[in-house]
Amino acid sequence: MIAPGSTIGILGGGQLGMMLALAARRFDCAVWVYDPDPDAPAAAIAERHICAPFEQETALAAFCAGVAAITVEREQIPRATLEFCAQHSILRPNPGSVAIAQDRIREKTFFRELGLATAEFAVLRTPADLAAAQTIPYPALLKTAQDGYDGKGQLRLPSPEALAPAWQELGQRPAIVEAMVPLQQEFSVILARNSAGLAVFYPLAENRHRQGILDLSIVPAALPDAVQDQARRWALQIAEALDYIGVLAVEFFHSVDGRLLLNEMAPRPHNSGHFSLDACVHSQFDQQLRSLLDLPLGDTRLLSPVVMLNLLGDLWLDGALDWGHWLRHPQVKPYLYGKKEARRGRKMGHLNILAASREAALRTVAELRGGEVG
Ligand code: AMP
Repeated sequence: MIAPGSTIGILGGGQLGMMLALAARRFDCAVWVYDPDPDAPAAAIAERHICAPFEQETALAAFCAGVAAITVEREQIPRATLEFCAQHSILRPNPGSVAIAQDRIREKTFFRELGLATAEFAVLRTPADLAAAQTIPYPALLKTAQDGYDGKGQLRLPSPEALAPAWQELGQRPAIVEAMVPLQQEFSVILARNSAGLAVFYPLAENRHRQGILDLSIVPAALPDAVQDQARRWALQIAEALDYIGVLAVEFFHSVDGRLLLNEMAPRPHNSGHFSLDACVHSQFDQQLRSLLDLPLGDTRLLSPVVMLNLLGDLWLDGALDWGHWLRHPQVKPYLYGKKEARRGRKMGHLNILAASREAALRTVAELRGGEVG
């Protein structure tokens, strides 16, 4: 066990790092953030911000020497950096888990090897792969293997003929082609697993997206118990196969014809778990800290129905934000990430809307949005 009061390190200093740093403060932990971005949101909360490229070994060595244990707040961190941290300190989750999650080809192949269902997909590395990739069901999506998130690096393919030009447009980078699934729902399972192999689950979040970006997470999710049970089993199977320590988010599709399909995973707290900040006994960030330090895992019990609503940069760009409007409901709890520049689709903050039922929370969302839920 690493005692509260120790210094922890976070690779990446975005909003997830910021919220972990805030949780760490309550444990009297100092936080060192490693992020090449001088404006990284977590730096405002951290004791120390090491602002250096992830590849710079002297900076990494100082980081490892100064902290008791390290975790990640994003998956796009070079493999060599992860390995270095694992060798010179304690890194949780392990480098292999992060490396799988940062590459769609590795991730989808890993799911398939575990025997878990995904949307039909084909791997595209060289032009010779094009023919096979045209035989999966269309319409399909072309997704770059790396650096794609929030719908970036993705193109919709109405027919097999669209594949070659679309791949050209994405620079012929390694990619997957994935059949479009008619969706009944999307949801995520968030779990925390400790070094003894014990795992706890958060209540499942039903996720609604707008243009490929998470818009709302609704808890409790309206999903049959059998689907929820199966999703939890698959998520645990993934965590165990990876010998995972930390918070793991696994995203699922529930298709119109009732199939459960894995979408992707994140080796860290997840946007769809932000509801836990207010609606659960312990938040996903508390749990990330507890698993990192080998403290006993906390209770994940849901205290209130909740809807998490993402605040995107569009709101800032489309005119002055009327905070009086957004905050007038006494059950709305705001989180702003302190990002200096608003961009379309950029996550600037979120609201947790607590209510007596999910329906009541959704009614508040509709009110805030002038009649529509989203
Ligand atoms: P991803 O970055 O792969 O999670 O994709 C972002 C969002 O696009 C997902 O949350 C879905 O809403 C949608 N999406 C991605 N892949 C598929 C698919 N195969 N079928 C239907 N919708 C998809």
